[in-house]
Amino acid sequence: MRRLAPYQTGLWLAEYMDMRCQLCRIYRSTPQSQLLHHQTQFRLDNITNVPPTRTALKQHSFLTNIRNQANSYLSSGLLCAHCHNDITWLPRPFEVDIAPSISLSIQASTYYEYPIRQAIRAFKHQEDMTKLPLLLHAIRQLPRPHGCHRNNSVIVAMPTTSQRLVKRGFDPVSILSAQLSKHWQIPVWQGIERIDDTVSQQGLSRAERLSNLDNAFALIEKPAVKRIILFDDVATTGASLQALGRTLHSSFGVAPLDQHQPSHGYHLFAYALAHGNQ
Ligand SMILES: [Zn+2]
Repeated sequence: MRRLAPYQTGLWLAEYMDMRCQLCRIYRSTPQSQLLHHQTQFRLDNITNVPPTRTALKQHSFLTNIRNQANSYLSSGLLCAHCHNDITWLPRPFEVDIAPSISLSIQASTYYEYPIRQAIRAFKHQEDMTKLPLLLHAIRQLPRPHGCHRNNSVIVAMPTTSQRLVKRGFDPVSILSAQLSKHWQIPVWQGIERIDDTVSQQGLSRAERLSNLDNAFALIEKPAVKRIILFDDVATTGASLQALGRTLHSSFGVAPLDQHQPSHGYHLFAYALAHGNQ
């Protein structure tokens, strides 16, 4: 039997066994579908356009039941409404340039402040898996980019260096990306690697961060789909996402939607768990 990763077991327990809020641990958690309006609803495809024959209607009601069960099963919730409402979700997106007159908009799920900040730091630096349910709740607030689905899009987790991976022993961003992938039903693509072993970005100015990241990424293969969704855990100035976007743009002409530039049919999106100062 395949061994479950420890974080996956923790999430499973948090979501399906422990009905308490994963932040205050006092109130009962509220299903995601009852929280706010901007969450992505789970949908079973092929249900909505059923022709109205008797068999089809029977099938439709059967499938509707399954869909309702699936909805309630998948939305047992991780936070209570109080804690959810205490956090500012979906800050205004901010933009970075990836080429002259081409800017990339970065959407974070929330701000990098209490309690998300403490949770991210404990998860990244102490491998504290008990913080993962809160981070997963944050990821679920991100709106899936319009028109993206499993057959036309991939998620690119901000790559880490092998040196850092060995030192840390695990890759927090890829764990979070796997959760985003599961939530949006869009696969993760690992066609880009990080080749710099430069100093950490922490404590550097914006210009220093950018020059630090020049030539930081290398493409291993060409993406098989045209919609590329970049994801990082914390976007401070957005320099890492910017550098990754620049690499993709200079290699394939990948550009954000609605830009008056040749994009060769590729579209680029950027998301982060949190936006703020380190
Ligand atoms: Zn709570």
